[in-house]
Amino acid sequence: MDNIEKYPELLPVFQDLQRIIKPAEYELWLRPLDFVYENNTFTIIVPAQTWQDTITKRYEGILRDIFLQRLGITVAIQYTIQPQEEHKPILTDKDVISATQNTDFSVETHTPVEEPTQRMLFISRLNASFTFENFIESTSNRFAYKAAEAVVHQLGHPENNPLFIFSSPGLGKTHLLHAIGNQIMKENATAKVLYMSGEEFVNDYIESLKTQSAENFRRKCRSVDCFLMDDIQFVSGKEGCTLEFFNTFNTLYASGKQIVLSSDRSPQQLGWDERLSSRLLSGLTTEIKRPNLETRIAILRYKRDINHFNISDDVISFIAEGVQTNVRELQGCLFRLVHHCNVWNVTATIPVAKEILSDMLENNTPNVNINTIKKIVGKYYSIKMEDFNSKSKIQSIAWPRQIAMYLGTELTDLSLIELGREFNRDHSTVVHARDLVEEKVTNDPFFASQITQIIEDIKDVEKK
Ligand code: ADP
Ligand code: MG
Repeated sequence: MDNIEKYPELLPVFQDLQRIIKPAEYELWLRPLDFVYENNTFTIIVPAQTWQDTITKRYEGILRDIFLQRLGITVAIQYTIQPQEEHKPILTDKDVISATQNTDFSVETHTPVEEPTQRMLFISRLNASFTFENFIESTSNRFAYKAAEAVVHQLGHPENNPLFIFSSPGLGKTHLLHAIGNQIMKENATAKVLYMSGEEFVNDYIESLKTQSAENFRRKCRSVDCFLMDDIQFVSGKEGCTLEFFNTFNTLYASGKQIVLSSDRSPQQLGWDERLSSRLLSGLTTEIKRPNLETRIAILRYKRDINHFNISDDVISFIAEGVQTNVRELQGCLFRLVHHCNVWNVTATIPVAKEILSDMLENNTPNVNINTIKKIVGKYYSIKMEDFNSKSKIQSIAWPRQIAMYLGTELTDLSLIELGREFNRDHSTVVHARDLVEEKVTNDPFFASQITQIIEDIKDVEKK
């Protein structure tokens, strides 16, 4: 909205808009956008449909009201979607998408810097960016990490052969498998290492049958010093493939070659036949657990530092508290936030993070029912449900009503207009109430603690 200079007649509209909408929200959603105003039509240029949806839901009504009140114009609001050029493309959309979804692997030929040897023709499929050095060790993954390190130095040792790592998604299995492969190659450039996901194993095997090159496929899989097979659950239930895997496994095992397997479930849960299961269990089995808060913070700080992101510790902790599921989502949030702030040239603050990551954070944007707010505030101040919608201006009723409105802006995702309707008023009353209560919360610690208590009570009721 910085191109307002072109339209001096709209100044009063913008003054109102900025007074009504919270500064952080204005900065985030509106300031970055350009617009065109012609023939009573206000066309907003947005970078994406989601952006348009947010503006439609939250601000369109307000904008219309202001045009009417200030200029007496019934404005038409339109949108043009125009993906933006990035100002500072440190991260591309692709990075963000792959960080948010699955970064699992990019196929790479391992090419040592030394003289080319015959071995270079062997495609290891390792991703050089997953190493032991950039894996944060913690209580939840320590055992798997140590076992992976041990494998590198004792290839094929019966104590850790096979090494079986399992966990729910996004906790570092793929990372550790590549780290093992990369470390082996680093210490011994002539070692033959092969990384393959269960899915690739299945596809390549089926393909090799079609092209009558099953022998080649077998030779490739069975001639390695270390076979790293990721997500072996994919092989389950596909008759011929399970058998092929079993034979590969046996051949490698019998000749003392190292096998490392990962899966989203334990060997027992794979539902394989007894013989294979007991083989899988004969080595070392380890589970990676979800990281605790300290670990999540450590991982985020590490990723921030190596990427030179400008994100404060406060914001890091905020993200770490909000994302408890797995590391992939955790770093996906960080990347998404950095990407957004780069593109729009805004500072990454907690309110910005809250907005941008709202769909990924747990419990940070509770969408509380407005009636719960009324009920709890009513109980606290001894007023009745109908008082919230009445016209009464008595302070003992008006003040709790204003508190409920304020809490409505904090705890629900109702727009100001919708909130106004819930109290039988218009959005400007809600804005006034919100600002009044917010000021008291900021300046009166005793009142602030009462409000905190009320919020706790509201959340308790909502949980039930
Ligand atoms: P999985 O294979 O278990 O689904 P990944 O190995 O693909 O999980 O991990 C997801 C993402 O999280 C990867 O980018 C990986 O580098 C990162 N990651 C997971 N655990 C850690 C950790 N302990 N330290 C650093 N990065 C991690
Ligand atoms: Mg994986």
